[in-house]
Amino acid sequence: MNDLKFCQGPDCHTYSTQDRLKGPKGNKTYQTRRRSSFYYGRGNFCDQRCLYDWIAQYIEQGLDRFGRTTQAKHLTKENAWIKDYDWRANADESHRHFFINSITKETRPLTEAQYNDSNYTLNTGE
Ligand SMILES: [Zn+2]
Repeated sequence: MNDLKFCQGPDCHTYSTQDRLKGPKGNKTYQTRRRSSFYYGRGNFCDQRCLYDWIAQYIEQGLDRFGRTTQAKHLTKENAWIKDYDWRANADESHRHFFINSITKETRPLTEAQYNDSNYTLNTGE
């Protein structure tokens, strides 16, 4: 029971669905949803409505706290490498995975292990 967590939506309890109605007979209340896991907002919200309620309430504080984008970011050839996968390549496994530079279109081979390693990159810029 202690493993259950509450939906973080500020208005979750105000949505009158049957599964939120809890308590002893004659004294039931709509309550914040509580489950072992949630799907939305990295496991913090029971549905999109609750996630967006939270965003609507806290987005300005969040941007002020963690920093706003105040100038354009640039994707240059130094940080334009993305990993890709060719489903049609079947004869030679070593050619299935590759880097492609989304600006220069240059490709470079990649092992499957490198493909799956989220820390492995050719990008050197921001
Ligand atoms: Zn909720």
